[in-house]
Amino acid sequence: MELWQLTISEAHKLLVKGDISSVELTKAVLERISQVEELVKAFITVAEDIALEEAKAADERLKRKENVTILTGIPIAVKDNICTKGILTTAGSRILHNFKPPYDATVVERLKVAGAVIIGKTNLDEFAMGSSTENSGFFPTRNPWDLTRVPGGSSGGSAAAVSAGECLGALGSDTGGSIRQPAAFCGVVGLKPTYGVVSRYGLIAFASSLDQIGPITKDVMDCAIMLQFIAGHDTKDSTSINMAVPNYLDALVPDVRGLRIGIPKEFFAQGVDERVADAVLKGIELLTEMGAEAVEVSTPTAEYALAAYYIIAPAEASSNLARYDGVQYGYRCEPTPNDIVAMYSRVRKEGFGREVKHRIMLGTYALSAGYYEAFYLRAQKVRTLIRRDFERAFEACDVLITPTSPTVAFKLGEKVDDPLQMKLSDVCTIPVNMAGLPGISIPCGFQDGMPIGMQIIGRLLDEPTVLRVAYAYEQASGLRNLQPPLKTAAV
Ligand code: GLN
Repeated sequence: MELWQLTISEAHKLLVKGDISSVELTKAVLERISQVEELVKAFITVAEDIALEEAKAADERLKRKENVTILTGIPIAVKDNICTKGILTTAGSRILHNFKPPYDATVVERLKVAGAVIIGKTNLDEFAMGSSTENSGFFPTRNPWDLTRVPGGSSGGSAAAVSAGECLGALGSDTGGSIRQPAAFCGVVGLKPTYGVVSRYGLIAFASSLDQIGPITKDVMDCAIMLQFIAGHDTKDSTSINMAVPNYLDALVPDVRGLRIGIPKEFFAQGVDERVADAVLKGIELLTEMGAEAVEVSTPTAEYALAAYYIIAPAEASSNLARYDGVQYGYRCEPTPNDIVAMYSRVRKEGFGREVKHRIMLGTYALSAGYYEAFYLRAQKVRTLIRRDFERAFEACDVLITPTSPTVAFKLGEKVDDPLQMKLSDVCTIPVNMAGLPGISIPCGFQDGMPIGMQIIGRLLDEPTVLRVAYAYEQASGLRNLQPPLKTAAV
């Protein structure tokens, strides 16, 4: 096995034993990047020099056995809408093509305190708006399992990088499915925590009431490890929950006896590929063989989640993106017009891509006088109904299991001209954000060589049960640390 194929927990063991150094591990990952990046294109920035410096510092810590954590010396990639001090942070947008934040996001700061090595910044759909990474203002990322297919989105770069061995773990962000759907498409694990568990400080805002940062990893244990370090109250984010962080690793017991699994029938309805549904149902069967109990439940308003999301998310985005005006940072048109309004409008016209402009217009419309009540207020009411539906469902079960996305990864270009189909790939993940619940995607099988993702949804703050079910399934199925048949450029 090559070093870049290790999981975080495996690498940690070798690092503390002194069998490998962080510099060796980081160099192996950088070497892997140089071999496959031309094909996959997962990164906007590879922070080679900084990573090697951090690896050296980690080796010092390991040598002195001081402040060593499970993440010390581990190369981690960060989605490019999460601020990294002094490292380019573009949010996948031309409007931030030259933006080097003067500060670290709280999650990045926490990774650094733990001694992690930040290896680079990963590609995404512009401002995280999209489901395929094709909306990146720079270039599309490709799926390591099949380079003619998308890696999913918007955290497509992070999921592809983990899958291709270009990092040991990554951070993504999830507003409507952007961690879970790419994780499903790339055959890796992705967790969207309960809203408020992870600080959003330093995450470039898309839809603030829905956005949440979470880990993308090669297996469930690594997911619990990364969550452990990034979770927890932060005074810099007023929506972060003030609570004691549970020990997520303690939740990893491969025992689901007596646990009730809800199967929300609406999530298996039309639009879901039969082979995907079958794989997920087989997954549930395996869990019942292990002693869990399956019950059918219903979430009738979930079918309105997508429509309500496409009012709420653009509304919040239109407000959040008002700050990009070309005055203090980011893209500035040349020559700069003398008239300030002309300057704003040219900067925004040239700096934003099509999807982003589309959403700003939609959101502005939905918030304007006369339409606010008809659209925004109504969508908020739908959101309340969705939350109640889930609460009711959780009276009969402990977790819900659904497909993560209705299909496996689709072809590049296949859905770019069909926005409805593109948006439907998040139909199973969006309701979870609307209710603020935790959800994980783990691999549960293959269709024509492409990975299928199974989504496990938990009660508010019940990440431990979500992780436990995911871990139990992973142990029983053996579907962990999957290696895509990626040919390197040299071959
Ligand atoms: N694909 C959805 C959208 O385009 C969700 C994106 C996300 O979770 N960031 O809005």
